[in-house]
Amino acid sequence: MKVKQLVTWGGITLGALGVGIVGLAIKSLLPQRFLTDDWVEGKPGLPLDTTNCPEVEVSFLRCGSISIPEFVATRGAFTLAPRVLAYSAVLIRHPQALFLYDTGLSADIYTYMVDQTLFFRKTLGNFQFERSLGSHLEERGVERSDLDFALLSHLHWDHVSGIPDIPGALLRINRVEYEAAKLGLLDMGNGLVRRLMGDNPVEFFDCAGPTYEGFRSSLDLFGDGSIVLVPLPGHTAGNTGMFINRSNGPRLFLLGDAAWVSQNYLRPATMHPFIWSRVTSDDATARQTLIDLHNYALRHPEIPLIAMHDAALQEQFMQSEQRLQAVGRGE
Ligand SMILES: [Zn+2]
Repeated sequence: MKVKQLVTWGGITLGALGVGIVGLAIKSLLPQRFLTDDWVEGKPGLPLDTTNCPEVEVSFLRCGSISIPEFVATRGAFTLAPRVLAYSAVLIRHPQALFLYDTGLSADIYTYMVDQTLFFRKTLGNFQFERSLGSHLEERGVERSDLDFALLSHLHWDHVSGIPDIPGALLRINRVEYEAAKLGLLDMGNGLVRRLMGDNPVEFFDCAGPTYEGFRSSLDLFGDGSIVLVPLPGHTAGNTGMFINRSNGPRLFLLGDAAWVSQNYLRPATMHPFIWSRVTSDDATARQTLIDLHNYALRHPEIPLIAMHDAALQEQFMQSEQRLQAVGRGE
């Protein structure tokens, strides 16, 4: 092959490759087809009678945030409008226990991050610190010893990062999640997750109870039907959702990281595939979970489905919750 031919051939190949890459990039922004057609016709579900449920107080404790373009949070959203992702814990006051769902961020979080790669710190490990879990608890007059346990939706670093602020607190973890994490997640990034979990005692739970509102199995945490855990796998093997059924306010469904923002289950749509593929342990299972949530949200418009990074829904919930609690106090 003559040099001229070679150059031309190389140019064509590179050109084709370029078109291919651009094509792939454009495709990654387009909506992905979800087989939800069979589900959409579902009738509204019967609202659960919660008059006999206990009073449960729920507070989102936002510890940090990051703003990302909408099209990154929701595949197929053609907008650069910013979407705020929160890093939060949830404080739950139930007659039988005072506990956390996830843990937000500790005051010491940056000291745990110094040895992480620059790539990690600039991408998935990037956030704006706002307020530590410890300071949130202090403001509410909650001592470490008042906390009965912290239940973790899953074991990604950003959900265990508040644990250094509650040393000694019992961690309750889905056995499926822990077994899967032992195969790699616990030791990633110089054992970041393991180090954040510290020496806190761990207790495993199993969602081995009956199906619950269309979800495959459940665990009724206190045996009174008020706090019901359901598996929402795919993001990680044991990502665990939590229904809160109470007499003093609307029911609530916490999703862990089964979605990032409500658009993920409303459309449904994953995050941008670049991020989705990095944070999702099982693509097909995670998309099935999004379909299940899509279906559930359609049948139960009265229940807020709140993902642990969904800053907008968390703020909205806290505003209505504060009004509710003020009414409860007779203000
Ligand atoms: Zn997360």
